Amino acid sequence: MATLIIAEHDNSILKPATLNTVAAAVAIGGDVALLVVGEGCQAVADQAAQVAGVSKVLLADNAAYGHQLAENVAPLVAELAKTAGFDYVLAPATTTGKNLLPRVAALLDVGQLSDIVSVESADTFKRPIYAGNAIATVKSLDAIKVITVRGTAFDPVAAEGGSASIEAVTAVHDAALSRFVGEEVAKSDRPELTAARVIISGGRGMGNGENFALLEKVADKLGAAVGASRAAVDAGFVPNDMQVGQTGKIVAPELYIAVGISGAIQHLAGMKDSKVIVAINKDEEAPIFQVADYGLVADLFDAVPELEAKL
Ligand SMILES: Cc1cc2nc3c(=O)[nH]c(=O)nc-3n(C[C@H](O)[C@H](O)[C@H](O)COP(=O)(O)OP(=O)(O)OC[C@H]3O[C@@H](n4cnc5c(N)ncnc54)[C@H](O)[C@@H]3O)c2cc1C
Repeated sequence: MATLIIAEHDNSILKPATLNTVAAAVAIGGDVALLVVGEGCQAVADQAAQVAGVSKVLLADNAAYGHQLAENVAPLVAELAKTAGFDYVLAPATTTGKNLLPRVAALLDVGQLSDIVSVESADTFKRPIYAGNAIATVKSLDAIKVITVRGTAFDPVAAEGGSASIEAVTAVHDAALSRFVGEEVAKSDRPELTAARVIISGGRGMGNGENFALLEKVADKLGAAVGASRAAVDAGFVPNDMQVGQTGKIVAPELYIAVGISGAIQHLAGMKDSKVIVAINKDEEAPIFQVADYGLVADLFDAVPELEAKL
C-alpha cells in the first residue's frame, strides 16, 4: 500500500496541517510519500524530508505550479496516482485541499471521501455529517481512494526525525484554464486560527468591528488568535477568514473563549472539540452554555475588560 499526500505550503514553509494528514496516512499503513508542488520550493521539500513517517518526497518545482493553481496541480496529482501506483491520495481538508482533491477524484473517476476524522481500516473511515451532529462510517471500493483529512482529529506527527529521499518530478501540466491575478494576505502577529493553542472569538453580541479591540487586548495577553461567528462576519465586523464553524474554520485549541456568541450548531461544528470552552453571554439560556466548561452570564462590555485587567 502506498499513500501520496499533497503537502500544504507557501513555497517556503511546510504548513502544520500536512503533519496531521501524515498521521492519518500512518494510521492507514504502508509507504507514505509527500508531494511538494510549487515554484522555488526546494526548502519545503527539505522540510518535508524530515517529517516522521514519510519515506519519499516528490518535488514538482515549475513556474506552472508557482501559485499552486488547482487546474494545473490536479492533473499532475491524478497522473502520479495512476502511474506511480498510489492506492491513496490525501490532503488536509483546508480551503486548498478542498479546492484540489475533488478535481483529482473527478480526473481519476473515483468518489471522494471528505473530511475524515478516523481510519477504521484500509477501506473504512469515519466522517462528520449534519454539521457534526452525526458521524457516518463510510467504506470505499475505489482502487484509488481520494481523501481529505480533518486535521483536528489527528495528532500531528513530528516535523523532524525522518530522512526521506527527494525525487524530482518533471511532468508539467499547464491547463491554461486559470491565471494568478493577485492576492491580499492578511498580516497578523497573532497565531493562525487553525494552529492556535488559545482562541478568543466574538459574535454578533460584539455590536461592531471596533469592539473586537476588546478581544484583541485579551488575545495579546494570552498569545491567542481571534475568531468570529458567521453573524459577526456577515455583519461586516471582521473579515471572513476569521470565521469559525461549519462554513468557516474547524478549530480545536486547548482553550476557546466565545464572547457574545449564542452557540448555533453551525458554530459549534467548528469548535466543539476544543479542550476547554469558556462562554461569556448575557443570556443564561444561550445554547453555548450547553457545551461550555466554564460559563459566565454577564455583559461582555463589563466582563471582557475585567478579564483583561486581571490577566
Ligand atoms: C448553512 C449554514 C452555515 C453556517 N455556518 C456557520 C459558521 O461556519 N459559523 C457560524 O458561526 N455560524 C454559521 N452559521 C450561522 C449560524 O446559524 C448562526 O446564525 C450564527 O452562528 C450566529 O452568530 P452569533 O452567535 O454571533 O449571533 P446570535 O445568534 O445573534 O447571538 C449573539 C449572542 O450574543 C449575546 N449578546 C448580545 N449582546 C451581548 C452582550 N452585551 N454581552 C454578552 N452577550 C451578548 C446574545 O445573548 C446572543 O446569545 C451558518 C448557518 C447556516 C444556515
